[in-house]
Amino acid sequence: NIVKQNTNIDNLSKIDKEYFIHPTTVPKDFIENGPKIIFSEGKGIRVKDVNGNEYIDGVSMLWNVNLGYGQKELADAAYEQLNRLPYCSSFYGYSNENAIRLAEKVVSVAPGDLSAVFFTSGGSESNETAFKLVRHYWDMKGLSDKKKIISLKRGYHGATISTGSATGIIGFHNFSGSKDMDILHAKPHLTNCELGDKTAPDYDESIRSMIEKTGADQIAAVIMEPVQGAGGVHVPPEGYLQAVKKLCEENNILFIADEVICGFGRTGKMFGVENWDVVPDVMCVAKGITSGYAQLGAVLLNKEIRDTLVQYDQILGHGFTYSGHPTACAVGLATLDFLEKNNILQNVNEMEKELKKGFKYLEENHRHLAKTRAVGLLAGFELMQDPDTETPFEQSIRAARYVVDHCFDNKLILRAADFEHQVNIVAIAPPLIINKQEVEE
Ligand code: PLP
Repeated sequence: NIVKQNTNIDNLSKIDKEYFIHPTTVPKDFIENGPKIIFSEGKGIRVKDVNGNEYIDGVSMLWNVNLGYGQKELADAAYEQLNRLPYCSSFYGYSNENAIRLAEKVVSVAPGDLSAVFFTSGGSESNETAFKLVRHYWDMKGLSDKKKIISLKRGYHGATISTGSATGIIGFHNFSGSKDMDILHAKPHLTNCELGDKTAPDYDESIRSMIEKTGADQIAAVIMEPVQGAGGVHVPPEGYLQAVKKLCEENNILFIADEVICGFGRTGKMFGVENWDVVPDVMCVAKGITSGYAQLGAVLLNKEIRDTLVQYDQILGHGFTYSGHPTACAVGLATLDFLEKNNILQNVNEMEKELKKGFKYLEENHRHLAKTRAVGLLAGFELMQDPDTETPFEQSIRAARYVVDHCFDNKLILRAADFEHQVNIVAIAPPLIINKQEVEE
């Protein structure tokens, strides 16, 4: 709660409770307690609240402020474009230079034959767009029954009806009836099953088994995050992504990589899939494309899908007012420029090592801490009653939330992932510009 020092701030809090419905917040708690913090400014990896308290942002806010706060190049790019032409449409054949250049730039850094870009305003719109475009692609191929999407439990794909349905975190998946959409949820990371071992544990919950039961002729695509983020920073076992990609190829099913968190350097490669040398058919990005300085997302399509789609001779019945927003795209161009000029990927790889040193120290000195992991600066750990025997805490003990609250009181922002019973995960994903001293701090 806000420290009650300043009547003006008390008043802000009161207005907030009255008028502002907050996303992903417990409304009843909010009405009782008001905002936990009202942010006011930021610099580097740190943010300040309206009372002047300074916090280290250990999760880049929502895994998106990848270049940290106060980056002048990004602000200047937005300012310049806002003054020149704040907005123009990309409908009806209209275009703008920033969107054109950013489309070319994103394709140039993308893996394999990802060849063209559809712009959106964020991650949910990107995944929603991907679902619609893959279904449209199969329609154009004369395979109109291919409509279903397979996603993974614990995955997060967004908050629209279909992306909420694809999300495998119960609270999001069930909210407002989203679960009724035509989406199948497989158990994550069953590498042996996906490779074809029918005797492996949990085979019935594998993607392979779902394809067998449902029929590949009904399935449009499989979607997954290379590293699951909001579900608790779950890194796939070696060979998993490759196995799923191969399974998709064998069954004429498209592979959509949700790179909304992983994309643009978070994992130490430009895109998460590159850690496993997989080239998706469709790749969805958002967040890091502008480091959170503007609302932007994009869907990348491989050559075959792009070439098919451009043969469509009726209006493409999909698009957003802000698709190809010139100011957001200006920030996107400045972000990619910053990533390259400042060797951010190299920094991520170096800071991953520093973070792992810190994890080693914590594991040796904290008896409840286990399963530390980091791919680049996408990291986390678990809290257990007894890590040696992998005994979880009792269901009533929300250890991750306790740790995150305690860190917050000590001016470090982290994130708890405790959606599953008895699983207590703390996520760490600092801005990619973090230095050694800051990691140690
Ligand atoms: N996909 C992933 C992997 C995400 O982490 C998120 C958001 O956290 C989304 C999609 C949805 O993005 P947005 O909140 O921008 O709609």
